[in-house]
Amino acid sequence: MQVLILGSGQLARMMCLAVEPLNIKTLAYDVGNNTVVHPLTQQPEPLSYQQAIAQADVITAEFEHIPADVLALADASGKFKPGAKAIQAGGDRRIEKALLEQADVANAPYFIINQQADFEQAIATLGLPLVFKTAKDGYDGKGQWRLKDAADAANIWPEMAQVIADSQGEQAIVAEKFIPFQREVSMIGARNAAGEIKTYPLTENHHENGVLSVSLALGDNAHLQQQASNMFSAIVDALDYVGVLAVEFFDLDGALLVNEIAPRVHNSGHWTQQGCFTSQFENHIRAVCGYPLGDTRLIQPSLMINLLGEDHVDLAALALPEVALHWYNKTNKPGRKMGHINVSAPDRSELANTLQALAQVLPKSTLAGINAMADKI
Ligand code: ATP
Ligand code: MG
Ligand code: MG
Repeated sequence: MQVLILGSGQLARMMCLAVEPLNIKTLAYDVGNNTVVHPLTQQPEPLSYQQAIAQADVITAEFEHIPADVLALADASGKFKPGAKAIQAGGDRRIEKALLEQADVANAPYFIINQQADFEQAIATLGLPLVFKTAKDGYDGKGQWRLKDAADAANIWPEMAQVIADSQGEQAIVAEKFIPFQREVSMIGARNAAGEIKTYPLTENHHENGVLSVSLALGDNAHLQQQASNMFSAIVDALDYVGVLAVEFFDLDGALLVNEIAPRVHNSGHWTQQGCFTSQFENHIRAVCGYPLGDTRLIQPSLMINLLGEDHVDLAALALPEVALHWYNKTNKPGRKMGHINVSAPDRSELANTLQALAQVLPKSTLAGINAMADKI
């Protein structure tokens, strides 16, 4: 079995590593360089993307911002899963919001802005405070504006107008009502072609400067888990989805609202590598290849810490018994996702102890996230 992954970052790398034991071979398409590469070494293969698409048994993606021509060719081959429709819903908030309405899942009230009159109407209809997001290309909280005070409207509108004007009709702004949530959680799950669905336990996410810092698997809230699974199922069924998908939620007094979806494996599911028998990476490839889905139950309390903008990690971390390091073979840049640490311990107190020990040896950039999560274990 030969799988071509559109995108050649750490998610493709971890899918590759996860399915070597199954003897599933992977190649990755590096969008930036327009080359086909090996997902681990990044060494180029003597293949154009058109040839790689023709050769592959199955084609999938590790991100949603895929050039339209590549996506169209992959989809036309009949081998692309989860399919162009799902990728587009993940890459354009207008399509995503329409999908959430179609699936009838709770989400923040919104208004689509193409011109100044829409901006004013969004404020009048939804009220303040508001969050504004570019419809396309947003990630890690980039391409967003907040408006609390009507007096600031005149300051932020010109910036949004510029983004719309520069895009030549591609871009719009989605205004969303600000949700005063207590916490953010996400659900990762898989659906296969037969419509079978398996979801992982919800995970609580702590962000620093808009980027995920720590994700803690929640194993103990059956009510919230059921709510999230129902919404997850409604979304993947509406898309006739095949593969792993992530849903980000706001937890507002115990009621979940969907923030956004990602039609792929997700950073908040990395702890499944040590915390579950079948990781999200293996389950994604199993699903798109038509293999049975693997077990998604949590084996023991688990969390993940992102290593952002660091060029190395003190290997003393690996002397701790419950610690696994995943390092991505990337060039360091400020804030860039360079690797992650998974901790998976027999019980919560041991997880907390290991986290405290890690705080002594991990880079200082991880401390805010570790401290924020420490008292939630
Ligand atoms: P990602 O890297 O997860 O794809 P993104 O750039 O697509 O992020 P969102 O997840 O939509 O952006 O928003 C980033 C963060 O902003 C959210 O995690 C949440 O903390 C906050 N946020 C977004 N929308 C709202 C909202 N309607 N109300 C309150 N906070 C919000
Ligand atoms: Mg997003
Ligand atoms: Mg998000």
